Amino acid sequence: MSTQDTPVSSNFIRHIIAEDRNNNKHNGRVATRFPPEPNGYLHIGHAKSICLNFGMAIENNGSCNLRFDDTNPEKESIEYMEAIQRDVQWLGFSWDNLCHASDYFEQLYAYAVQLIEQGLAYVDSLSADEIRAYRGSLTEPGKESPDRSRTVAENLELFARMRAGEFNDGAYVLRAKIDMASPNINMRDPAIYRIRRVHHQRTGDAWCIYPMYDYTHCLSDALENITHSLCTLEFEDHRPLYDWVLTQLNTPSHPQQIEFARLQLEYTIVSKRKLNQLVMENHVQGWDDPRMPTLAGLRRAGFTPKAIKDFCERIGLTKQNSWIEMGVLEYCIREDLNENALRAMAVLQPLRVVITNYPEERCEQLCLSNHPQRPELGHREVPFARVILIEQDDFAELPPPKYKRLILGGEVRLRGAYVIRCDEVIKNEHGQIVELHCTYDEATLGKNPEGRKVKGVIHWVAQDYSYPAEIRLYHRLFTVPQPDNEENFLSVLNPNSLDVLHDCRVEASLAVASSEQRFQFERTGYFCLDSLDASKEQLVFNRTVTLRDGWVKD
Ligand code: ATP
Ligand code: MG
Repeated sequence: MSTQDTPVSSNFIRHIIAEDRNNNKHNGRVATRFPPEPNGYLHIGHAKSICLNFGMAIENNGSCNLRFDDTNPEKESIEYMEAIQRDVQWLGFSWDNLCHASDYFEQLYAYAVQLIEQGLAYVDSLSADEIRAYRGSLTEPGKESPDRSRTVAENLELFARMRAGEFNDGAYVLRAKIDMASPNINMRDPAIYRIRRVHHQRTGDAWCIYPMYDYTHCLSDALENITHSLCTLEFEDHRPLYDWVLTQLNTPSHPQQIEFARLQLEYTIVSKRKLNQLVMENHVQGWDDPRMPTLAGLRRAGFTPKAIKDFCERIGLTKQNSWIEMGVLEYCIREDLNENALRAMAVLQPLRVVITNYPEERCEQLCLSNHPQRPELGHREVPFARVILIEQDDFAELPPPKYKRLILGGEVRLRGAYVIRCDEVIKNEHGQIVELHCTYDEATLGKNPEGRKVKGVIHWVAQDYSYPAEIRLYHRLFTVPQPDNEENFLSVLNPNSLDVLHDCRVEASLAVASSEQRFQFERTGYFCLDSLDASKEQLVFNRTVTLRDGWVKD
């Protein structure tokens, strides 16, 4: 954890675990797990759970498993499993055991047989619709299925035949026999096995019945000797079922389920189902599109594990669902990049400047610091020549009040180089500015001459000694803060979430940048090479975040 920068605040789960250790509960052991379903890529919400589960294990000298809850084969895949492992490792965590609920299928089956033998589970032939109708509602108790009174022998035989593949999908389910009148609907004889003839990515066609999530989850936790089963609030109402299954089966270990609030982040979505829809319907370019709140997307945008872990610590842990502002995540990445990103110059929208009194063939190598506050990060050479490029908006014909950059007849400092004065504005036949003619003052290299104070500093690159680059600017993916609360979240997609600038020029040192490096381009933001599309022939940079918080205003 980034304990150095972020004060580690306490939270209720830290308290519970500390207390359990003091009381020697679970023999003082702490064992957690992060249990994703491999039906999509991990998102920033999962990062909260990852940091919590792995973090608690690390802090308490315990262990943490990565467990795939792979009981829904039609939605799951090996691609997702691999991506999930990659993302957890990228965050900097390593699991003690890599587990799969499917590793326990045989054992889960044996436990189900045990429940039947104890008279606590029965095979039901009601259809899914009938089961729903029988379930009752929050105000009405449920109705018992006619099959609830089947004998143990009958149930055992039918369950064996379900497994043997004698029945069609949906013909039967195995249900726990709990209480159809329970005020908690989850306790009204929930299904624990269903028939599903689907190929499973790990067990192939060995099974045509699959255990349900609630039943599988608690038993997987128990089989792995988990001590603290940390999950999100929506499982609070499932806790009685979690405890019921473990108590009835008298499992050797009985983990303790503790719920915390999910992360909800403004202007984005953290639901794999909806993120999947964005990908499948091509609203974004893939799970790792830099606009996506997935870890793969954030990584490609240039976010660092440090910033994400810092964010997860900072937002804290409570039992209250709330929305976190995007500004918090941006603050964390800015903190990291301000300290660690190398400074460089890139001109996003170039305007040609000819320095008329600078010799034609001359090219000087100027020495610029890679990080003004961190001399240990060294220097680089930046070529300077007669024709340079500056940002179009660093020159104004009709300057607004307090404008400190270049104006006709005015002076400005070129970062790390000379002071120039604009003598002439050259326009085309449509009246558009095509280039500026300036003169430089040789005495101003690296210092202001006596009695002359030049306030504005702008960035630049030498036209013939810079490289072309494509630069991608990302904006929020949705136009409203809580897209998840919209009836149709697609209707509030931001149609302008990506700006691609094709004619950018970057300083020569960036031609050999690596995709691990992070840069602060003077005044325009923090950037990194696009790990997918950038090549030696075509530089492509992604903007991770702007330099300052423009979020509220734009
Ligand atoms: P989704 O709705 O995105 O599919 P999920 O809860 O179904 O989320 P899982 O793969 O089951 O996804 O999640 C693995 C773990 O991550 C679970 O313990 C879950 O509680 C946790 N988790 C998922 N989303 C969030 C979130 N937004 N904030 C905190 N934890 C989360
Ligand atoms: Mg889930």
